[in-house]
Amino acid sequence: MTERGLLIVLSGPSGVGKGTVRKAIFDSEDNDFQYSISMTTRNQRIGEIEGEDYYFRTKKEFEQMIKKGQMLEYAEYVGNYYGTPLPYVQKTLDKGKDVFLEIEVQGALQVKEKVPDGVFIFLTPPDLAELRLRITGRGTDSEDTIDERMKVAREEIEMMASYDYAVVNDEVPKAVERIKSIISSEHFRVERV
Ligand code: 5GP
Repeated sequence: MTERGLLIVLSGPSGVGKGTVRKAIFDSEDNDFQYSISMTTRNQRIGEIEGEDYYFRTKKEFEQMIKKGQMLEYAEYVGNYYGTPLPYVQKTLDKGKDVFLEIEVQGALQVKEKVPDGVFIFLTPPDLAELRLRITGRGTDSEDTIDERMKVAREEIEMMASYDYAVVNDEVPKAVERIKSIISSEHFRVERV
């Protein structure tokens, strides 16, 4: 029988750089896990590719997926749904491959309930002022949305205690190396071998 893969969950406040860190991990050569592409109802940003960055769906389509029990987790975040389609995750873990999710905190907590032996990694900003600068610097959000994202971020940082690991994103390459070393160590946990 094939050994089941590990479910790796990278989470943390919006703007902390989860997307950048995740892309850097997947751009590096020596990774051996599969990224689960999320589904969202938010508008596609310029440069984003359907089926690569997200599956962009209408609210109705998203709600159909929920109804059919096909979401591993989902959350409403700043007025839109975001979620992880279950079939891909299940199929890939069953094949013995590790699956990597990059999701916000409410969703990560749902995954923890369903898959307690997942690896839960919380990416933290060096400080909140830095986080605001990063969100503002992206230039894609209105002042109100930025305030809303900051409010959510403060609440999310308090959730860190529910995670297995906390990684400070001071510099992307360092955060990437920290995450990779966590994942490789996790494969050698006594209860997994
Ligand atoms: P953005 O709109 O900036 O792409 O993403 C907003 C937030 O949604 C980020 O914190 C991102 O990590 C999170 N997110 C992306 N995909 C998912 C998902 O599948 N589930 C959940 N719960 N959050 C997600």
